Amino acid sequence: MKNKIWLSSPHMGGTEQKFVNEAFESNWIAPLGPHVDNFELDLAKYTRTNYAAALSSGTGALHLALIMLGVKPGDEVICQTMTFSASANPIAYLGAKPVFVDSEKDTWNMCPDLLRKAIKDRTAQGKKPKAIIPVHLYGMPAKMDKIMSIARTYDIPVIEDAAEALGSNINGKMMGSYGVLGVLSFNGNKIITTSGGGALLSNHKGHINKARFLATQARDAAPHYQHSEIGYNYRMSNISAGIGRGQMEVLDAHIAYRRKNFETYKRELGGLAGLSLLEEPVGYFSNRWLTTILIDPILSQGVTKEHIIEALKADDIECRPLWKPMHLQPVFKDSHFYGNGFSEYLFNNGLCLPSGSNLTTEELKRVFTIIKNVFSLIQLDKQLETV
Ligand SMILES: *Cc1c(COP(=O)(O)O)cnc(C)c1O
Repeated sequence: MKNKIWLSSPHMGGTEQKFVNEAFESNWIAPLGPHVDNFELDLAKYTRTNYAAALSSGTGALHLALIMLGVKPGDEVICQTMTFSASANPIAYLGAKPVFVDSEKDTWNMCPDLLRKAIKDRTAQGKKPKAIIPVHLYGMPAKMDKIMSIARTYDIPVIEDAAEALGSNINGKMMGSYGVLGVLSFNGNKIITTSGGGALLSNHKGHINKARFLATQARDAAPHYQHSEIGYNYRMSNISAGIGRGQMEVLDAHIAYRRKNFETYKRELGGLAGLSLLEEPVGYFSNRWLTTILIDPILSQGVTKEHIIEALKADDIECRPLWKPMHLQPVFKDSHFYGNGFSEYLFNNGLCLPSGSNLTTEELKRVFTIIKNVFSLIQLDKQLETV
């Protein structure tokens, strides 16, 4: 029996268990403790931001970020459409409205030209956006230099959704450190996991202190329970943070494995007619959380993403279409959208391949051999038809 191959599964390094045992031995079984404090220090140091707050999820981190920027019911927030729903849902939690912006071709992330257009247009309607949420999808950095410069021009704060991009950077500047607030996720399928968790990054001490305050029920400094603001229960558990500390020790090695997966796929599949992989622009470094491919339906002579998904599934291999853009989601169908058609093209023709840092050479070979076979069978059929 062959084992199932997952898109991206947890990969422990070894010391996680030691940290978790320490939490048990010291009885810090709570959403605070030494592992939480040290995990925060590790994250800030690694991303070269001044401060980090460890939280129960990336979604919670985004929610707090929007609250701290003063987003209120009826406000508008610009969000990349090509993303996972957790980038946009917290906007709706606050009764605010997402305005979706399409992607550009070099990184598949927020198109700076459309961002500018959206800001101008919304502002002309009397609805100046309260924040901008670019996303570094699949680990590939968005064009942050341009996005930050537009944000500065119009004086709109940026919340960077770096949930998939821990370790990615542009010329050494880490993703998550560009915006006034940066969001990380440590869900089970991310590049490192704490079983579930997230973090907020910032260079502003005030923001991080406020995030910790809001995340622990907004308790005022008083001997009794007193509250002057609505609070949340969003802090990370000390046990999860222990796993996180262990994971930080292997993060760079895991990025190296994932980048090697990409190189293997590129070497084996890059020559197939109609198949392309996303290259890094000069100076960009992707953690290659997921290797993604695009199938050009014309150049591929009939091979579609469905053929590949089906063939992989038959061999118990998980493979997924690229994330469905938010403006196409039933729940966001009435939202404003500034588009160019590119995210729809990605969704219709793109796939995520198994990319875990724990994939063996044999498992990778299973994946690319099946894809190669799909191409040769269908393209051969096509050639026979035309003879
Ligand atoms: C995973 C993810 C999130 C949410 O993080 P959770 O920790 O799962 O809540 C947000 N944005 C993106 C782009 C993600 O991939």
